[in-house]
Amino acid sequence: MPPKLMQAMVLDRAGAKLREAELPVPVPGPNQILIKVAACGVCRTDLHIVDGELAHPKLPLVLGHEIVGRVEALGQSVEGFTPGMRVGVPWLGYTDGTCTYCREDRENLCDHPRFTGYDIDGGYAGYTVADARYAFPLPEGYGDAEAAPLLCAGLIGYRSLKMTGDKLARIPSRLGIYGFGAAAHIVAQVARHQGREIYAFTREGDRAAQEFALSLGAVWAGSSEERPPQQLDAAIIFASVGALVPLALKAVRKGGVVVCGGIHMSDIPSFPYDILWEERVLRSVANLTRADAREFLALAPTIPIKTTVVPMKLERANEALKRLRKGELTGAAVLVPDG
Ligand SMILES: [Zn+2]
Ligand SMILES: [Zn+2]
Repeated sequence: MPPKLMQAMVLDRAGAKLREAELPVPVPGPNQILIKVAACGVCRTDLHIVDGELAHPKLPLVLGHEIVGRVEALGQSVEGFTPGMRVGVPWLGYTDGTCTYCREDRENLCDHPRFTGYDIDGGYAGYTVADARYAFPLPEGYGDAEAAPLLCAGLIGYRSLKMTGDKLARIPSRLGIYGFGAAAHIVAQVARHQGREIYAFTREGDRAAQEFALSLGAVWAGSSEERPPQQLDAAIIFASVGALVPLALKAVRKGGVVVCGGIHMSDIPSFPYDILWEERVLRSVANLTRADAREFLALAPTIPIKTTVVPMKLERANEALKRLRKGELTGAAVLVPDG
């Protein structure tokens, strides 16, 4: 039997620090599983929620949508899960299954979605409940903390990479990555596995991030304001800085693709049409589908993707968010609850 109370870090309102609290352990409803959280990744989206840039979270809210844990109890009608199984819970927590987008196999764009750690309490806690239909068994060979970044940084990164197009004429194709944090460090490994060359763009003078990128096989690393030594075929922007969009468009060749991988970005400055012309494509990526999750979680151990994590105790969530904001993390911060 799970205990009655659990440790949790709670957001009461935008702009506030997370509050350390004791909350009742949730009870799984129909289709839900109760999960004892072993690790939960800290994502840039969490910062956007704390800062009020994603304006409609449930409040008070338990953040966290890169949840790794073990099934503790099953609600009614749950299939395919047994107590003790290790599972992962990503951002996509529910879709209606009936809207135009769901019927078009684009459930990431569902009209009535619910997101983990935003509309639904997430994993900055000792326990959480999740709709079992949106939870996934995790590949073996990853520790709990190491598996956590696969669930958003990995999944969204992978979807972003797919959106750059995989049938490029040039071999090896040249991929630029702007913002070399948690998502980039995973995507770089997939892209290298596909035989692409990686060009890593970081904040000016961020030698640590540039060294990290080179250690993961990037052929070039420099600041975002620099032109890469070669024209790129595609670029992914993970940093939430709109000014990077025209820089990335200037760096890609005719017909090149620029993908914005984040959920929020500062305003994009106006730019001359000629850097978009010649059939360059600018697009965003939103959320994930369960098909993305199954595909990526099967692929990860075959490469194998290795994640670089900075484990921190759950009660240090505010510090983890602060370090993410300042760009002080190499890899992904992962919160680990007591016990
Ligand atoms: Zn839908
Ligand atoms: Zn995320």
